[in-house]
Amino acid sequence: MATERTLSIIKPDATRRNLTGRINAALEDAGLRIVAQRRTRLTQAQAEAFYAVHRERPFFRGLVEFMTSGPVVVQVLEGESAVAKNREVMGATDPKKAAAGTIRAQFAEDIEANSVHGSDSPENAAIEIGFFFGQVDIVG
Ligand code: GDP
Repeated sequence: MATERTLSIIKPDATRRNLTGRINAALEDAGLRIVAQRRTRLTQAQAEAFYAVHRERPFFRGLVEFMTSGPVVVQVLEGESAVAKNREVMGATDPKKAAAGTIRAQFAEDIEANSVHGSDSPENAAIEIGFFFGQVDIVG
């Protein structure tokens, strides 16, 4: 197993309900270290670029609207197999299908407002981390 980094986003539904600390505690309890973190508000152009892979999906417009509807917390998580571990702690995209105890099972409102984003592969993690952070921002 290798030490990896992954990009996490605490989404607007979670910041609105003041859940940043509880979500960070769940990540840290799982052994992930928050090695960079910034609260920000995505512009429409940023949200469209970040989710460009979903451009043709029927939920794309709604997703961009949701992701720009309030503050987000972007963060870099570090740890053993951090990409897979974060996906495990997050739970399934649809909170109705998320395993008990996962962040989405505990906190998500629905399949769109599902509280957290996590990179789905080490390759995408590197791209997504570079979208928000420079090397100087990440302190391991
Ligand atoms: P993730 O990797 O688990 O976040 O899921 P995806 O990459 O497939 O989708 C990205 C994000 O788009 C999800 O986290 C949701 O916020 C949203 N999304 C995915 N599928 C749907 C859907 O069927 N309907 C709606 N409204 N939003 C969705």
